[in-house]
Amino acid sequence: MNKFYTSTRNNSVKISAKDAIKKGFADDKGLFVYPNLGNTQVDLDKLITLDYQDIARAVLTKLLPDFSAAEISESVANAYHSSFDSEKITPVVNVDNFHVLELFHGPTSAFKDVGLQLLPQLMKHVLTENNKVMILTATSGDTGKAALEGFKDLHNMGIIVFYPNGGVSKVQKLQMVTTGGNNTKVAAIKGNFDDAQTNVKRLFNDQSLKQQLGNEVSLSSANSINIGRLIPQVVYYFDSYKQLVNAGSIKAGDQVNFTVPTGNFGDVLAGYYAKLLGLPVKKFVVACNENNVLANFFEHGVYDRNRPFYQTVAPSMDIQVSSNFERLLYYKSGEDTEYVKQLMDDLEDSGKYQVSKEILDNIQKDFYCGYSTDQEIENSIATVYNENGYLMDPHTAAGYKVMRDYQKSDKQTPMILLSTASPYKFVNAVSDAVLPKTANDVLQVMRDLAAETHAPIPENLRKVWELPIKHESVIEKSEMKDYVRQKVEEVFYDKD
Ligand SMILES: *Cc1c(COP(=O)(O)O)cnc(C)c1O
Repeated sequence: MNKFYTSTRNNSVKISAKDAIKKGFADDKGLFVYPNLGNTQVDLDKLITLDYQDIARAVLTKLLPDFSAAEISESVANAYHSSFDSEKITPVVNVDNFHVLELFHGPTSAFKDVGLQLLPQLMKHVLTENNKVMILTATSGDTGKAALEGFKDLHNMGIIVFYPNGGVSKVQKLQMVTTGGNNTKVAAIKGNFDDAQTNVKRLFNDQSLKQQLGNEVSLSSANSINIGRLIPQVVYYFDSYKQLVNAGSIKAGDQVNFTVPTGNFGDVLAGYYAKLLGLPVKKFVVACNENNVLANFFEHGVYDRNRPFYQTVAPSMDIQVSSNFERLLYYKSGEDTEYVKQLMDDLEDSGKYQVSKEILDNIQKDFYCGYSTDQEIENSIATVYNENGYLMDPHTAAGYKVMRDYQKSDKQTPMILLSTASPYKFVNAVSDAVLPKTANDVLQVMRDLAAETHAPIPENLRKVWELPIKHESVIEKSEMKDYVRQKVEEVFYDKD
């Protein structure tokens, strides 16, 4: 069996999973991918009797061939335990005639926890004695806090989070700026998420910065471009399928559909990996918000980011360049890295690219894509709450609307809707949808929602209001490089 990852932009690259996790992405700016993914299969029949942690071990063993069984077991045990408020880690609940896969039971109430509790544990086994790694992360809100929690106080690791000033919710901001730990740094940047992400990518490729940091310190990424974060997400696709089999909702071998609210295309790509590894999935229904670059792509095969950027009620999906889509292009072009490189050069030069009809058809075989406006998101939250007593966050609700559109032409196939955040992370939009009046104070809105819906407020969100603010920097985009240099010093060399 193949043991190496390669780059989406150059198939002569050969790199172990460990090195790929350490580096984050390739020197040619491509993303690391596993060639011939479909040659490896996870044994579905065996899964049915396993718990979440067992399934995680089975999936990771396939995709991280250079990790020992002991390293995988230890990482999984450290990542998925009582820090999640559900024993199932990612429980499935039945709502109406569809199922909701709740991915928000981790320590920060966001689905990002699933990847970011495990990535740092894997990173531990990647670093050798004198290695130090500084994680740089651009966040549209949820990644930041989840990454901070995952990396907090780990030896020889530090983390810097950049978030768009004014571009995240009040609760998300509070969660980040109250983070403790001796190796965590947070700065707001004057710009939107794409500015943050573009500049972080630039820093990774900045040779002068690399030299200044020296041989000991390397930079890495906790964004879903890192395979160490992407691969853990493959697990819950298998686990949710197992839960449906065990509940008697489907028989082993039956096809299912998944609906996935999308930003950087990491979550849904992990689902596609599960399909390549043998999970019987008919269709992935991909949902955008009004930043619908991807939905337009699905119509004509033209990816065009030259358009206005909207701040929506589902801010974690306010993204114009879905980085992980590059990985799908790699697989759907028959692993043609020259072709993918050409497309990505076009994107960099002109902000757009066009794929061939053949490749678009090939993508549409497995994926359907649509979008939801803010008004439709609010309507969906209200409808599902009023009819089923189930409270969705705005991202999940964006998925719900597109799911219903898709189901007009496929009513039979069982549907699993991925829920990516607790409704309490985005209380204003949720309150606007289900309460007659939304209070001015966000904490009060949380309490009002809990009183009306009886859905419990997750503990971390209840407590965040009382914690001291530890991070107050607001910087220009042009100051990010200096900020990184300075924080590397502070975290690794200035300690008493
Ligand atoms: C990150 C995030 C998404 C988008 O996930 P991708 O992997 O970037 O596609 C959707 N919803 C919420 C709440 C998120 O935090």
